[in-house]
Amino acid sequence: MTNKSNYEYLLSDLTKLKGVGAKTTILLKKKKINNIFDLLWKLPKSYTDRSLSIKIKNLKIGDNQTVTVIPKKYSFPRVRNLPNKVSCFDETGEIDCIFFNSYEGYVRKILPLGKEITVSGKIGFFRNKYQLTNPKYISEDSSLIKQKHNTYSLTEGISEKIYNKIINQILKNLPILDEWHTKNILNKFENIKWNEAIVELHKPENIGNYKKNFYQRLAFDEIFSTFLVNSEIRKKIKKIKKKKKDIDIKKQIKILKKLEFKLTNDQLKTLGEINEDLRSTNKMFRLLQGDVGSGKTIVSLLAAYNTVNSGFQVAFMAPTEILARQHFNFAKKLFSDQINMELISGKSKYKTKKKILKKLTDNQIDIIFGTHAIFQKKVHFKNLGLIVIDEQHKFGVNQRKLLSDKGGKNCDVLLMTATPIPRTLTMALYGDMDLSIIKEKPKSRKPVKTYSKLESKIFDVIKYITTQIKSGNQIFWVCPLIEESKKLDHSSAVKKFEYLNKLFPNQVSILHGKTNLEDKEIILDNFLKKKFQILVSTTIIEVGIDFPNANVIIIENANKFGLSQLHQLRGRVGRGEKESTCILMFKSNLSENAKKRINILKESTDGFYISEEDMKIRGFGDILGFKQSGIKNFKLADPIHNNDLFLLAEKEIRRIEIENADISKYKSLLKLYDRADIINDIA
Ligand code: ADP
Ligand code: MG
Repeated sequence: MTNKSNYEYLLSDLTKLKGVGAKTTILLKKKKINNIFDLLWKLPKSYTDRSLSIKIKNLKIGDNQTVTVIPKKYSFPRVRNLPNKVSCFDETGEIDCIFFNSYEGYVRKILPLGKEITVSGKIGFFRNKYQLTNPKYISEDSSLIKQKHNTYSLTEGISEKIYNKIINQILKNLPILDEWHTKNILNKFENIKWNEAIVELHKPENIGNYKKNFYQRLAFDEIFSTFLVNSEIRKKIKKIKKKKKDIDIKKQIKILKKLEFKLTNDQLKTLGEINEDLRSTNKMFRLLQGDVGSGKTIVSLLAAYNTVNSGFQVAFMAPTEILARQHFNFAKKLFSDQINMELISGKSKYKTKKKILKKLTDNQIDIIFGTHAIFQKKVHFKNLGLIVIDEQHKFGVNQRKLLSDKGGKNCDVLLMTATPIPRTLTMALYGDMDLSIIKEKPKSRKPVKTYSKLESKIFDVIKYITTQIKSGNQIFWVCPLIEESKKLDHSSAVKKFEYLNKLFPNQVSILHGKTNLEDKEIILDNFLKKKFQILVSTTIIEVGIDFPNANVIIIENANKFGLSQLHQLRGRVGRGEKESTCILMFKSNLSENAKKRINILKESTDGFYISEEDMKIRGFGDILGFKQSGIKNFKLADPIHNNDLFLLAEKEIRRIEIENADISKYKSLLKLYDRADIINDIA
C-alpha cells in the first residue's frame, strides 16, 4: 500500500485510487485534476446532515431526513411511467419509498422485506402518507448514512457518492509528511500538521472556516512556497559576479538638459537605483513598475545610454514593432550623435538583417531595438551589458530566468511593466526581482475626465467628437470585446467603422485582429502623423504607444472589461498637453455593483489604487496580468483576505535569506506545490 513516509503517493496518478477508472480519470483531467494532490483542493461546497435518525411520525415534509424502517410490501405496476413502490413502517407510522425508472430486482435487493433498513432523502407527502421518492441513500448499515455528506460542485459524470468515496479514500491514506516549517511558524497555526490540516479542510462542518488554523496553514504553505522559489532564483542571480559598469554622470546630466521636460522625483529615484545596480559587481535583475504614462521609457533609455558609455552593448525589446520603433525614434532624438543604434524588424530585408547581425557581433552597434524575437534568433553580441524589456507582464518566472541566463554573466536585466498590481501580488509575481516603482506622474499631465454613457445616447457622443475633430483632436474608438469569437469582434469593429466613416468621411481608419502587421504599422504611423482623426479598433492596440495628439477615447461595452484594463486603455490618451476625455459606453443601465466599480475609475487615476479596489470587488484572479503571468493560481490563498499571511511569508523568507538557512527540508513542499521545475535547478 502507500508509503506513509513521503509525498510520492500524493503525486501519483488518479488510477491508483480504488474506484477510479479510465473514464473518471478523463473526466477529472478535463478539470485539470491530474493527480491525487490536485483532488485535495476540490472542496465541498456544502453538506447535508443525515446524522440524525427520526421516527416516521416526526418526519418533516420537504426536508432531507434519515429514517430507519422495515419494508413490508412491494408494488410493481408494470405499466409504463408508473413507479415501483415499497411500503415501509416503523413503530410510529408508515412511509412509501417510490422508485422511478427502476428494476424490480434492484428494488427487492436494496429493500428486502422484514429487514431494518436506513433510508435518507427528501420527505414528501402524498394521499395522506409520507413518501420518499428515489431515496438518495439506502443501506442496511445505518452508520454509512448517518453522517454529514459533503456536496461538491460536481464534475459532470461523477456523482456525489463517488466523490465522497474518492476523497475519503485519499484522506484515509494521507502520508505523514516531515514538517517543513519551523516551530515558530507552526506556532502561529496552533501547531497543526499538514495532513491534519487537510483532514480538517474536508470536514463538512469546516466549510467556509477560512479563519481557522488549518485553512491558514495551508494557505500559508502555498504563499510561502511561491516566495521561496522567487527568493532562490533571486539569490542565484545575485551570486553571479559581473564586471561593474562605470557610469559617466556628466554625460547623463547633459542628456537630461536636452529633454523638453524635467524628470519627476520618482523617475530620478528609480534611475538612481538602476545606476547603482549597474555600478555594482552583482548582476542586476530589476523590475521597473509604473503606471501607464509615468515615463518609464526615458528612465530605461538613460540606463541604456549609461551602459553604452561604460563600454557595453544593450538589447532593448518591446512587445511589438511599433513600440520598438517608437523607442528607437525617441532614442535617436536623444543620442544619435553619440552612439550607434539600429532597429531590427521582422520586415527588414534579409540583407539588411544580416548586416545588422554582423555589426552586432563586431560591436559596431551600441543599442539594438526590436521585439522580444531578438532573443529567439541567432543574435550574438560582442559585449552585451544590459537587456531592457518593455511591457513584459506576459513573462512568467521561468521565462525571466531563462532570459537572464541567456544574456550572459555581465548582462544586467531591466524589465518594465505598466500593470499596477497590489503589493501582495507583486511579491508573489515578481519576488525574484528587485523592484523600482514610479508612483507619481509628470506634473504636466491632466487627469483624463471619465464619463459613462448609455449606448442609446450615441448621438451625444457623436456631437461631442464632432467638436473635438473640428479643433484638430484625435479619437480612439474601442469596439466591444466579444470574448466568444474573434470573428464577431472583427465584424462589430467593421460596422462601427462604416457608421463613423459615413459621418466623418475620410477621417476614419480601422485596426483589428485581421489587419496584417505591415498595414497596422502604416495605419498607426498615419494616425501619429495626424493623417486621419478617428481610429476604430478592437483591443489590439498596445497600451505603450504614445499618441500625444489623441485626447478622446471611447470604449464600447465597457462592462466587459476589468477596471485595470479600462484604466490601461484610458491611458492611451492624456499624454499630451490637452484636456482628455474617456467615455465608457454601456448597453444597459448599470447594476449597483457595476456603478461602484465605474466610480472608482472616475474618481481615481492611480492605477495601483484602482487595481487594489478592483481586486476587492472582483477577486484577484481577474486582475490584468495575473492570468497571463504563468504563475499558477493559488488554491486557497488570497492576496486580499490573507494579507497577513503574505507578510508573514515575506518575513520568514527574509529570515531564511539572512541566516542562509538550509532549504532542503522544503523539498517536499516545493514538489507538492509544483514548483519542482524551478527547484530542480536549485536543490
Ligand atoms: P510609460 O511609463 O507608460 O512607458 P512613457 O515613457 O511612454 O510612459 O511616457 C509617456 C509620455 O510622457 C512620453 O511622451 C514621455 O516623453 C513623456 N514624459 C516622460 N517623462 C516626463 C516628465 N517627467 N514630464 C513630462 N513628460 C514626460
Ligand atoms: Mg511604456
